[in-house]
Amino acid sequence: MISDKIITLTKEAETKLKKIYQEQEEIEFFNSSKVLNAFKEHNVTEDCFNMTTGYGYNDLGRDTIEKVYSTIFKSEDSLVRSQFISGTHALSTALFACLRPGDIMLSISGKPYDTLEEVIGIRENNSSLKSYGIKYQEIELINDDFNYDEIKKILTENKIKLIEIQRSKGYSTRKSITIEKLEKVIHFIKKIDKDVIIMIDNCYCEFVTTKEPIEVGADLVVGSLIKNLGAGMVSNGAYITGRKDLITLCAERLNVAGEGKEVGPSLGMNKQFLIGLYMAPSVVCASIKTAILTSYLLEKLGYEVEPKYHDKRADIVQNIIFKNKEKLIQYCQAIQASSPIDANVLPIPWDMPGYLDQVIMAAGTFTQGSSIELSCDGPIREPYIAYQQGSLTYSYGKIAIMNAVSRLLETNSKK
Ligand SMILES: *Cc1c(COP(=O)(O)O)cnc(C)c1O
Repeated sequence: MISDKIITLTKEAETKLKKIYQEQEEIEFFNSSKVLNAFKEHNVTEDCFNMTTGYGYNDLGRDTIEKVYSTIFKSEDSLVRSQFISGTHALSTALFACLRPGDIMLSISGKPYDTLEEVIGIRENNSSLKSYGIKYQEIELINDDFNYDEIKKILTENKIKLIEIQRSKGYSTRKSITIEKLEKVIHFIKKIDKDVIIMIDNCYCEFVTTKEPIEVGADLVVGSLIKNLGAGMVSNGAYITGRKDLITLCAERLNVAGEGKEVGPSLGMNKQFLIGLYMAPSVVCASIKTAILTSYLLEKLGYEVEPKYHDKRADIVQNIIFKNKEKLIQYCQAIQASSPIDANVLPIPWDMPGYLDQVIMAAGTFTQGSSIELSCDGPIREPYIAYQQGSLTYSYGKIAIMNAVSRLLETNSKK
């Protein structure tokens, strides 16, 4: 139930946030133009919805989608495939494609996303990069920015093959990395070593601003289609976009050496991929507006939030730092109760594979694990942070947030 107090507060919020919303809508407009122009340039026709089976030779839709992605990202080539399970699989593919035994991979944004730990070999696995003799080094961020001195030192002392930069914060407490910060560090790196491959984990960041990482000098950009660019329309898959020689290596690693991009049946997914991309600027905008409203309301109610409602955003993720276990659980449960799917399920903290602490997850989504749909989760450890992201429309997001915030107030007054 939405309380009267929250109705009043939300009205007030929307008046106050008008200008901030408008800025976001201008970004949506810009990115929508980008998408529409790319569709036209590559002549997307109804024939593109046809599918191939078996080997997947001559898949017009698949090949056209990859050209459209390249135009949008201003890259030389792209791989957009449902054969990628998810973003992690595409990141893993890109790393195995670019690195050879003896090479060194360097992360300059601290510890990478949890699911990459076994891929890299930070946690032991017999199929990790480490098991093939690929070395790994890591530099922590300092004050939410890159450690330039350390980057220079390592690049001068060693031959680094690939640098990974994860823009979104994952389950960490740091801020996400804006395109401006990315541009600055890439120029810095390329001045020291122009050959090092710069690979960006771009999950959650697509269409948040008007520029994408290739435009600021990245070589390879990777993301998931059950996040921003799938807009909730895509059942699975991921993309890699960037330098042509590297995309060829990625295609041969995903598929077969010697066959690369030429194979891979689209099995009826082309239309989904196209609608997802077409809707993405608008769905990303709805997600960000939902995040901004969340940030505003929870701050007004006395909670610590990151980013704040007026901060410049790099991704669609909103943190609420509850500093209280019960509040985190209640909030996630209330978000679940306002979901389209499984609204009557009560999420509780559980031991998720691969995580040290228990995690609570609210995800009443059409697609399993889809986090461009409204979802909220958090590890059960201090300071009890909720990681909320997504919403296919602003109204659905707003309904869920108003309900969740009302629930928090209710339990406050009961005490
Ligand atoms: C979600 C995410 C991934 C992994 O993507 P999946 O599609 O869940 O495999 C990797 N990196 C970051 C920063 C993410 O947010």
